[in-house]
Order: sequence, then structure tokens, then C-alpha cells
Amino acid sequence: VRRVAVALVHHPVLGRGGELLTTSITNLDVHDLGRCVLAYGLEALYVVSPLASQRLLCERIREHWVNGAGGRRIPDRATALAAVRVVADLEEARRAVGGEVESWTTAAEPRGGAVTPYAEARRLLAGDGPPVLLLFGTGWGLAPALLDAAAVRLEPVRAARDTGFNHLSVRAACAVVLDRLFGAPS
Ligand code: SAM
Repeated sequence: VRRVAVALVHHPVLGRGGELLTTSITNLDVHDLGRCVLAYGLEALYVVSPLASQRLLCERIREHWVNGAGGRRIPDRATALAAVRVVADLEEARRAVGGEVESWTTAAEPRGGAVTPYAEARRLLAGDGPPVLLLFGTGWGLAPALLDAAAVRLEPVRAARDTGFNHLSVRAACAVVLDRLFGAPS
């Protein structure tokens, strides 16, 4: 069984016009992805931002819930937020995970090239291999270079019938993807 951590990427991501930019950290994303990571037994949630002021904000949120007043009031959240690690870039996240880390990407519309179905991804994760950093985007999605360089591009989540829309919030996408990869059979 392979070690897996999640990265919530605020840079490099796409903007509305297809330009590369840095997005702001969102309180709700950190809480919800932290809970998902805890619920599915993953190693950590790396919140990636090159902006020192944004990292400080995220550290303060974490501190409030893990060691401060918030955690004393709602201990559940302390456990979820304890999984959060704030890093400046993906390289720092890879170093923290350790070893020859594979990047796996998620996207509503992956660029050209093969995508890996969830059944195959589950099989890969159950076997031996390097640790996996599972990337989720913000803004208008992960930068094309991240998708191009990924060891595995997961197939987009979509409904069984054609609804013509599959652009989920990163919070919803993370919950669905982790359940497809690590959920118990229903
Ligand atoms: N501002 C938005 C929000 O509130 O979440 C950001 C959207 S962000 C582009 C959504 C991220 O969730 C994508 O980069 C991708 O990681 C993931 N995602 C969204 N829809 C998806 C889908 N249908 N299949 C797989 N991943 C998806």
C-alpha cells in the first residue's frame, strides 16, 4: 500500500483568462480538505502558497484550531487541522513527503493525453510504489505544466448521465475523488 498526501495548490494555477496566477487561501477549503484527508486516512494536507502573508494566515488558522481556543471548543476540528502543513511550493511538499514522490493530478478537463480510470488508480495505490502527492487546483484549475508532468492524471469526475457540467468546487471534488480512491464499497 502506498503512502498518499494531498496538496491544495494556490500556485501555479490558471486564472479566468487562461493566465498563470496565485490564488488566495480560503478558510473553508483548508477545513474541508483537512477533514477529508483525516477521514480517508491520508498522511497530510499540504497547503501550497508562495505568498508569505498567505502562509502566515493559514498557520494562524491551524494554530487557532490545533492549540488555541477553537480546538478546546471543538476538538474534532483540532484533529482535522492537525493534518495541515503549510508550504511555499510543491517542491517543499515533495521533500516533506520524502522519497521519489509521484505527482497525481485532478481536473474537470484534463489536457490531451491519457487519463487513468479510478479502478486502475485504486489498483496502483494498493500495490508497492513511491509515495503519491495528489494535487487539487484552485482558481480555474492546475497549471498545464503540472498536468503535463503528472505521473497519473486521474479521469475527471462526472455523472453517469450527460449533465453537460462537471466543474466541482475543490472541496466537493476532493471528497468525491478520495471516496473513489479510498472509500469502502457500499
Ligand atoms: N474557486 C473554485 C472552488 O471554489 O473550489 C475552484 C475550482 S478549482 C478549479 C477545482 C479543483 O477541483 C480542480 O482544480 C480540480 O483539482 C478539482 N476538480 C473540479 N472538478 C473536478 C472534476 N469534475 N473531476 C476531478 N477534479 C475536479
